[in-house]
Amino acid sequence: MAGILFIISAPSGSGKSTLVSELRKQVSGIEFAVSWTTRPPRGSEEDGREYHFTTREEFMRMVNAGLFLEYAEVFGNLYGTARASLEEARIAGHDLLLDIDVQGAAQVRSKLSEAVGIFVMPPNPHVLRTRLRNRSRAEGVVNEEELYRRLREASKEIENYREYGYILVNDILDRAVAQLEAIVLAERFYRNGEAIAYRSRRVLEVAAACLQTNSQERLKPVLEAFGITGSNVQQQLPFGDDSDDD
Ligand code: ADP
Ligand code: 5GP
Repeated sequence: MAGILFIISAPSGSGKSTLVSELRKQVSGIEFAVSWTTRPPRGSEEDGREYHFTTREEFMRMVNAGLFLEYAEVFGNLYGTARASLEEARIAGHDLLLDIDVQGAAQVRSKLSEAVGIFVMPPNPHVLRTRLRNRSRAEGVVNEEELYRRLREASKEIENYREYGYILVNDILDRAVAQLEAIVLAERFYRNGEAIAYRSRRVLEVAAACLQTNSQERLKPVLEAFGITGSNVQQQLPFGDDSDDD
């Protein structure tokens, strides 16, 4: 595709959807690929806006017809990116943002190596648990089993952070939004020579600080909090203590 392909991945509840929706308000010329999924709509989600909701049968029919750029099973449901999303962004001359899991991201990278990967991390497991619980409450569905499953899965997903060029730690929302915006503008500057006005130097600095290769010190406490030390993952995940919730 002519535009830049951005892939954003994160453990569920990290705030990725919130960040993407803020980015879309502030940066033009970037399309968001609406994925297909077999999971039922959640809260105020609408068909065709957050996702195209479909049945497993229809999804598999699309898989067999080769309509997906990538697809994966996440938390027992199928999710996929239609190839048509790429084509539409190309025709519009826009960049494209894929919000997909780590399995889907690996599939896309193997086909489109120029894709820019951004991994979003929550600052620690306790904050993640609180965010997941608050979101469930706001949607009127608190399922403790599902919540615990997503927490367990988070550490496994975070282990894949090295596959992504940029890392965001979504602690303070405004800062994370500014970092995401800086990454998009910096990539446009480096790849397309697109001017980024008077604040360009600051934008490039902010984006450079988010490069994975520049993030080891910043990430150390986050990885430790999730029980990830070096290439080893501790057996005991630190989700036992409920005391600082709410
Ligand atoms: P994801 O898309 O990664 O699953 P969401 O964007 O739905 O996550 O965010 C999960 C919950 O956390 C939501 O209730 C959202 O409002 C909240 N949230 C997101 N980012 C922040 C932040 N930086 N600080 C506090 N709450 C946040
Ligand atoms: P949720 O059900 O919370 O919206 O999303 C669950 C997970 O599925 C998230 O990690 C999200 O990034 C991922 N996901 C959403 N759409 C796609 C997609 O099209 N492909 C893949 N592989 N994962 C997706």
